[in-house]
Order: sequence, then structure tokens, then C-alpha cells
Amino acid sequence: MALVTTTEMFRKAYDGGYAIGAFNVNNMEIVQGITEAAGELKSPVILQVSKGARAYANHTYLVKLVEAAIIENPEIPIALHLDHGDTFELCKSCIDGGFTSVMIDASSKSFEDNIALTKQVVEYAHAHGVVVEAELGTLEGVEDEVVVEAGKASYTRPEEVEEFVTRTGCDSLAIAIGTSHGAYKFRPEQCTRNAEGILVPPPLRFDVLEEVSRRLPGFPIVLHGSSSVPQEFVKMVNTYGGNMPDAIGIPENELRHAAELSVCKINIDSDIRLAMTGNIRKYFAEHPDHFDPRQYLKPARQAVKDMVAHKIQNVLGSAGKA
Ligand SMILES: [Zn+2]
Repeated sequence: MALVTTTEMFRKAYDGGYAIGAFNVNNMEIVQGITEAAGELKSPVILQVSKGARAYANHTYLVKLVEAAIIENPEIPIALHLDHGDTFELCKSCIDGGFTSVMIDASSKSFEDNIALTKQVVEYAHAHGVVVEAELGTLEGVEDEVVVEAGKASYTRPEEVEEFVTRTGCDSLAIAIGTSHGAYKFRPEQCTRNAEGILVPPPLRFDVLEEVSRRLPGFPIVLHGSSSVPQEFVKMVNTYGGNMPDAIGIPENELRHAAELSVCKINIDSDIRLAMTGNIRKYFAEHPDHFDPRQYLKPARQAVKDMVAHKIQNVLGSAGKA
């Protein structure tokens, strides 16, 4: 199967009450871990590349790694997506360079400026057979160069979505309902603590999601910042020399519920970073004499694969949907 757009994936996901995982890729081990899990579970998958990933690994290397994954996993649909494109030029460069989907994130601009830039990207993308994700509302947190301070974030206003989608022609819409970028999604004072002293975040605003869906029937919605920050990995990091107190994510049962509704794409990045870092720290602590990168990247890659398999089966619901 060649690289596909997300159009067919999202239509099936919407109707089937599940979501497609969009996992950020930065190197070979991450691409392999994600696509091996998706391939074995016969799940469609979106591999997404941020501006930071392109700066780190180079556009051509990332595209070729994804092409290799397609050859190795011929039975599953794979989309290659630009995460958080912030200019027309960046989106154009990815469209010209083989991506099948791009995000234009003009959510920090005014409503009219967001529409104007999104529309410009949509016109170029559609002329080249590429689909576009746009964003309304602002998420808190840090993701590569996207930094939104606490208090500067805002929920999506449902009364704006119909006009925005109609005027821009975008293919999917990222909304802000309380998810957040990074491994520190909430400040402790925003949360309660459970019996084990683990922070419990405020619930997602499903009322906003439902109102958006009512106004845009059949239209695919995207959730960014949707890592769950599994405490097993946080504990592993902290046990083996790391220092990540109060790292916290979105509970998986809330994401599962969102996937059953109109959410067709769920972005997961921090959980990949945590799975790798926890396992590499553990490996270094247990094998201080080893120095072959293959030795410690192998369990790191396996941890990514196991984590993605868990998401596909228990959170996204996309197993067997290829
Ligand atoms: Zn994001």
C-alpha cells in the first residue's frame, strides 16, 4: 500500500467509533516501533513530523524512513503528516516533498487571520491531493517550538466552528477541550491527588466536543496533547536517575470515550519519549559497561512498540481496521 491521505481513514473511524493514532517520528527506532505495532495489529496509522523533527533528522531522512516502513508493512494504510506547520512555506515544502497531510496551526492568530492562512494552505494542498488539518482554540503546554503559557490557552468556541470550516475548506479540525502538550500537562494546583498521591487532572470538556460535533456532523475532530504519561515510565525515569516529579497526562479512559465520539485522530508524542527514556535509563543503570547504541536502543524500540500496541488496542480502538 502506498502512502495514503487521512480521508478514508477518518471516514471509517468516524463511522466505526474509533480513532487513528498520530505518533510523532524523529528517528529510525521510533518509526520501526510504531509501524511494527500497527502492522502486527492491522491498524491504520499516522506518522507525523514536527518542524523540530525536520530540523533534527532532515526532511529527506524522515520521508525515506517512512517509505521503508511502508515497504515493510504493506498491509496497513500509513499517512505522513506535518504536525504544527506555522507558515504557508513550511506546509508547501512538505506538500511538495511527499507528505499526504499537513497541519496549518494559525490558532494563535486572530479568527480572520487564522481563516486566511488556513485557506491559503488548503487551496495549495487540495490542488496537490493533500489534506489539511487546522486548529481553533489554543492548548497549553510545550511542544518543540510551540509554547503556550498557562493562562494563555483557551477552549475552542463551538459557535465559530461552522464558519471556520466552511470558509477554509479544511479537512479536519483540532480543538482545545483541555488536553495539553508535553509531560507536565497540568500544574499540581489544577489537580486532585488519588490515594497513592498521584495527580488526577481536571476532566476534558466533553460538552465542548459534543457541541462542536453537533454543529459539524460527520466532520473529523483531532485531539492534540493526548499522551497519558504512563506512571510506570515516569517511575522508571525517576528510579534510574531522572527527575520528573508530577509529570501527568490525559487519562486513557477519557481518550477512549473521545475516540467513540467524533474524534478521529489522537496525537501521542510524550509517551514515546517517556517509554524510550525510561528504558534507556534503566539499561544504562543495569549495564554500566555497555557502550553499543544497539544494545540500549533495542529495548527502547521495543518499549515504543509495546506502548503503541497498547494504545491501538485499549485506547484508540483501531486494531483490525486496516
Ligand atoms: Zn500538537
